Amino acid sequence: MSKNVSHNCVMINGEHVASRRGLLGQTMLAAVCGATGWAGYSTTKAAGSPQAEAPEVPTTPEEALQKLLEGNRRFAEGKSIASNRDIDRVREVAKEQKPFAAFLGCADSRVPIEIVFDQGFGDIFVTRIAGNVASSENIGSLEFGTQILGAKVLYVLGHTECAAVSATMKGTDVPGQISGLFQHIRPAVKAAKGDLNKAILENVRNQAILLAEASPVISKMVQRKELIVAGGIYDLATGTVTPVSV
Ligand SMILES: [Zn+2]
Repeated sequence: MSKNVSHNCVMINGEHVASRRGLLGQTMLAAVCGATGWAGYSTTKAAGSPQAEAPEVPTTPEEALQKLLEGNRRFAEGKSIASNRDIDRVREVAKEQKPFAAFLGCADSRVPIEIVFDQGFGDIFVTRIAGNVASSENIGSLEFGTQILGAKVLYVLGHTECAAVSATMKGTDVPGQISGLFQHIRPAVKAAKGDLNKAILENVRNQAILLAEASPVISKMVQRKELIVAGGIYDLATGTVTPVSV
């Protein structure tokens, strides 16, 4: 944990965390961990006042991440407000979309991201693929969602009991082109040494780092403090999202 911008730290779900492997560039880290952003955010959250709630339309990456986390908290507590899901909102965003967050999530039917984060039409730009892997097509989509549409958070969401990670770990024969996913997940499986939960966590971390580093579009946005790359794991049994340090 560190608030010193010179350290390898990134902000994940509202907390400063150490970048274990130090893979992110120092310039990017300084942008992500800048004192003007997260220190203020943490102080605001610590106060715990109702006024600390994220604004309806986030104007900063910090506000955007806060809005997501508040949405998941509502959902997991059974207090979803399900705003922006009526026909008026459909009409409102028909001509233009300005999502405040972009996602790389798993295709699993039990992880509908708009519902998990209590958002509606036009709020979040979502790409989903089994194993939440950052293929070149996904990266292109997410570059569109961030640079062109203006999403301020790029969130990689894994989940417990992920079949794609589990299948990669088992290494058994699978039909068709399913095994095409495995190449993206193998580094996480290798690092996890047989622990599925650890493999799921490592996979989220790997994909987030890949997005932050492999895409010049995304890395430049992070450097300019226009975007935060974050990650978490959704628990199928509880509905809660737990942060993953990237
Ligand atoms: Zn999955």
